[in-house]
Amino acid sequence: MSAMDNLPVVVIGAGPVGLAAAAHLHERGLPCAVLEAGESPGVAVRQWGHVHLFSPWRYNIDPAARRLLADAGWVAPDPDALPTGAELVSDYLQPLAELPGLKPNLRYGARVEAISRLGLDRLRTAGRDTTPFLIRLTDGDEMLARAVVDASGTWHTPNVLGASGLPARGETAAAAFLEHALPDVLGADRDRFAGRHTLVVGAGHSAANTLLSLAELAAGQPGTEVTWAIRTASPSRTYGGGDADALPARGALGSRLREHVDAGRIRLLTGFSVHALIPTDDRVAVVVRHTDGSEEAVTVDRIVAATGFRPDHSIATELRLDLDPVMGATRALAPLIDPNEHSCGTVPPHGVDELSHPEAGYYAVGMKSYGRAPTFLMATGYEQVRSVVAALAGDWDAARDVQLDLPETGVCNTNTDDSTGGGDCCGPAPVAEPAGRGLATGISGGLLATPLSLVTLSAAPTGETGGCCSN
Ligand SMILES: Cc1cc2nc3c(=O)[nH]c(=O)nc-3n(C[C@H](O)[C@H](O)[C@H](O)COP(=O)(O)OP(=O)(O)OC[C@H]3O[C@@H](n4cnc5c(N)ncnc54)[C@H](O)[C@@H]3O)c2cc1C
Repeated sequence: MSAMDNLPVVVIGAGPVGLAAAAHLHERGLPCAVLEAGESPGVAVRQWGHVHLFSPWRYNIDPAARRLLADAGWVAPDPDALPTGAELVSDYLQPLAELPGLKPNLRYGARVEAISRLGLDRLRTAGRDTTPFLIRLTDGDEMLARAVVDASGTWHTPNVLGASGLPARGETAAAAFLEHALPDVLGADRDRFAGRHTLVVGAGHSAANTLLSLAELAAGQPGTEVTWAIRTASPSRTYGGGDADALPARGALGSRLREHVDAGRIRLLTGFSVHALIPTDDRVAVVVRHTDGSEEAVTVDRIVAATGFRPDHSIATELRLDLDPVMGATRALAPLIDPNEHSCGTVPPHGVDELSHPEAGYYAVGMKSYGRAPTFLMATGYEQVRSVVAALAGDWDAARDVQLDLPETGVCNTNTDDSTGGGDCCGPAPVAEPAGRGLATGISGGLLATPLSLVTLSAAPTGETGGCCSN
């Protein structure tokens, strides 16, 4: 046994996946310290506590956590019920964090600022793998670790509104008009939306959730207006698989949204690439640039940016990471989850081998492991940490025996987008993807495979540049 083995494995983040890692470490008898920036477990989940998950309880509880909780007399929720984010915390994460075996290892108000190797910068190789990790917190405190399991998620680094991946012109100055994804429209944040005009930007489930809440608010609150802006020419991706969705709740979300749009209760703007934000008195003009170079503005009271999330790797810049240039995930994992290729939300089982970096002993897991891919599921993260912890315990057979306890999805071949014309010039034809494990959406082709209407340098007329998908 080396001196390194007496050091704890440091887990960053006490979200669902970080706490699952702590449960597996406890079961394996490995010393562990969980560093959580917030003041309680599941702080990111609490932010969207009013939202219903689309996966039922049976997929939301880590097996090691379940065993520890059961030993303590915990009664598991109905496996088929769909919890809200708040219930995920109150009925599962909070009791887990309170277990006597885990609680002493959790440290709140502990935000990790940087990770390195003690006495070695990124350049130095000799002795690297046997040198402890050095973890620095924002309060200046430092600690040593034998390994780091980074489950810090992506909630605190949302994507920008600007279509190019950079903030739109004026986006920073217009911050007072901007909402993070998933405001509590019908609850705590109601006053900011009632009787006002809100623009929701984005095409994912977060956008759909917010739009449905705004439509409900508008039904009972005169003067409430809802506009929805997407970059593609069709909202079919958001409408999803309907009845073909492996998760009925998720399919129903898209179907209800479609009804509101068809009935005119939600105004839909397609081909909408945000170029600039210009505050005007107490409203904000959102400027879109069209394919021909012309600009148009929509003036609203609030903007909800539901444009997804990206990982923040800045805490690990002194470590040797090998990140896929597209996804910001490991190179082994990236091709399995790239939304340019995949849409079904399915993924082959994967573990320590796919999550390893050249920096031995550092693993990004959970939501962060997926980089910019939007299809992460907790069950996938639970299997990741089971495998990583088994490897840290030296049990390589278990580490490499990766399983994923999700339903077989069958094929994923129902494309509800009738505007694509069967895949001629507007995206791939709806071909069957092979069966995977996950929670298929029923939409074929890559989530990002639909072409966008791009701005042309020559400002040529639309008909000459965009083909059948342009506006
Ligand atoms: C609205 C919404 C609905 C979702 N619905 C589902 C669903 O139905 N089913 C499903 O399987 N998945 C769902 N997901 C996806 C995913 O499972 C969740 O986002 C889940 O919370 C990810 O868990 P995590 O532990 O990886 O990250 P998080 O839950 O984001 O936890 C990360 C933790 O790390 C902490 N942290 C961050 N930075 C630092 C730092 N520098 N130092 C210390 N601590 C830090 C944060 O405070 C946070 O507590 C949903 C996601 C969203 C946003």
